[in-house]
Amino acid sequence: MTLKELDKATTSLHPSEKMPVLFLGHGSPMNAIENNEFVHGFKKLSKELPRPHAILCISAHWETKGTFVTAMQQPRTIHDFGGFPEALYQVQYPAPGSPQLARDTKDLVTKTNVGLDEHQWGLDHGAWTVLKHLYPAAEVPIIEMSIDHYQTPLYHYELARQLKPLRERGVLIVGSGNMVHNLGLISWQHINEQYGFDWALEASETMKQFILNDDHLSLINYQKLGSSFKLAIPSPEHYLPLLYALALKDENEKINLFNDKPLAGSITMTSLKIA
Ligand code: ZN
Repeated sequence: MTLKELDKATTSLHPSEKMPVLFLGHGSPMNAIENNEFVHGFKKLSKELPRPHAILCISAHWETKGTFVTAMQQPRTIHDFGGFPEALYQVQYPAPGSPQLARDTKDLVTKTNVGLDEHQWGLDHGAWTVLKHLYPAAEVPIIEMSIDHYQTPLYHYELARQLKPLRERGVLIVGSGNMVHNLGLISWQHINEQYGFDWALEASETMKQFILNDDHLSLINYQKLGSSFKLAIPSPEHYLPLLYALALKDENEKINLFNDKPLAGSITMTSLKIA
């Protein structure tokens, strides 16, 4: 099918002004219902975003063997966490899905055979706890793309590059994770404080330098960056959504950092907009 025919066949992928790309540090699920500085950052961002036809979200909280996209009409709100107040479990984010965008994404990606998930997943908290602040009316259709747990950072970066045409077709692509994320080393003493351990601050500063210098290769090869990175990224799932976002950047585009703060010692909430 040619792109022209694709246009006729879809409602979700009309040509549009080029959409920005986001990486959102999602942190605690409580950000869904709290009114803190990070939530203010998301709400401020929402005022400067165009209205997309749809959103494609790569969330740290959907890891699979192989790559999948959600393809149901109405994805459920998944409360994939434990031990939080009842009020958080009551939150629903009833944004529609977009089976059409799921199929179009599958057609676009040649790096792997993207599976269509019509029944299983939905919107996990990596997606809904932050997207609800960007589009509180839940009117923009959302699909999620999973992270293949068995692949290398370079593989993810290359896969992400194939999503680029979606930006010109009204799709806002959002990576949701945390650049520095080590739950095992959380400082309970500083749990709600903007406090970072030395290694967390060091990794964060180095990361931001690479990000702002477009040095994606160093970020892809983060495992060679020494002990602070080993502590900052003990497992890749919260970091990889950053690589998805950066892979979608064009050379002439700018990066704006926001919510650029450490939290609880071993997390950073640093988020960015590429436009
Ligand atoms: Zn998370």
